[in-house]
Amino acid sequence: MQAVANQPLIERYRRFLPVSERTPVITLKEGSTPLIRARRLEHRLEEEAGVRLEVHLKVEGANPTGSFKDRGMTMALSKAVEEGTEGVICASTGNTSASAAAYAAKAGVPCFVVIPDGNIAMGKLAQAVMHGARVLAIRGNFDRALEMVVRISERIGMTLVNSLNPYRIDGQKSAAWEIADDLGDAPDYHFIPVGNAGNITAYWAGYRIYREAGLSRSLPKMMGFQAAGAAPIVEGAPVADPKTIATAIKIGNPASWKKAVAARDESGGVIEKVTDDEILEAYRLLAALEGVFCEPASAASVAGLLKLSRARRLAAGARLACTLTGHGLKDPERAITFAGEPVRLEADFDAVLKEVARP
Ligand SMILES: *Cc1c(COP(=O)(O)O)cnc(C)c1O
Repeated sequence: MQAVANQPLIERYRRFLPVSERTPVITLKEGSTPLIRARRLEHRLEEEAGVRLEVHLKVEGANPTGSFKDRGMTMALSKAVEEGTEGVICASTGNTSASAAAYAAKAGVPCFVVIPDGNIAMGKLAQAVMHGARVLAIRGNFDRALEMVVRISERIGMTLVNSLNPYRIDGQKSAAWEIADDLGDAPDYHFIPVGNAGNITAYWAGYRIYREAGLSRSLPKMMGFQAAGAAPIVEGAPVADPKTIATAIKIGNPASWKKAVAARDESGGVIEKVTDDEILEAYRLLAALEGVFCEPASAASVAGLLKLSRARRLAAGARLACTLTGHGLKDPERAITFAGEPVRLEADFDAVLKEVARP
């Protein structure tokens, strides 16, 4: 299928989505994000493990609000408006609220978001409030917030726009279609961070739909990665008090748990965990080697790649895609804390020259 610049994903993939002529398309021109070949990362992996891989990065931070959530939100808001919604509500670790708030603003409908107080990157909170959402920060974690908004949406008939909303998953399938369009087929492996597990569910469904439609020949192994302190699927039990620096995947009881397990098992893939240190290493490598600044949670996919490559668990010559779910500028404080402050100098030519000429 032809990529058409500046086309909303609902138009680009209309034939695969539950929309009709009556559906008002609420769009900020999301999707059609870059798929970037990661050659310097490939060399690094080969040096370390002696195995050559073909690595592609799906840069979802290039979406309008800076994360893949926009793919689902254009569908969720379009269908909500078609169905005459009075307002939308979500729980969020940050990016869902940023996206819901923007698309609700575009649609002209009220938006309510419930977030875990103090556990949201500042950029995401800034987006939600700027777009005019009513932001309720609770003294509790994401899982509590989600329970509450599900009950509220049932009680007062507001549209829930968490990934329990099936239109969110429909829209998010489009990332798999774009990758297959760009590569001419599905990759051998697809690496992805897992939080509430909606995205791994959507990618797997998307790849299957494309193969059934004859637009790709193969299916990838789905390789999901949770943060070690928030790895309920890996541990096989909910985590009451999840802990990780990767706040976007700090989730103890994923809504799409069973579907994620099905994606893993049907595809012959894995769902494993990576430590915060492994996540931060991948976060820095992506920025320094590839020029791609993603948020820490996004780097979990590449942390998983580094881990499996070093353990020589990937077939030589394999082609793989890694989803980088959100933009690094969402949380600049994290980057500065981790990578360090600039060198501070007097405004003196010789002092600056000395630093630049330093061997
Ligand atoms: C939402 C989000 C995730 C997790 O996606 P799920 O669908 O909940 O598994 C990962 N990274 C970022 C940046 C996110 O915003």
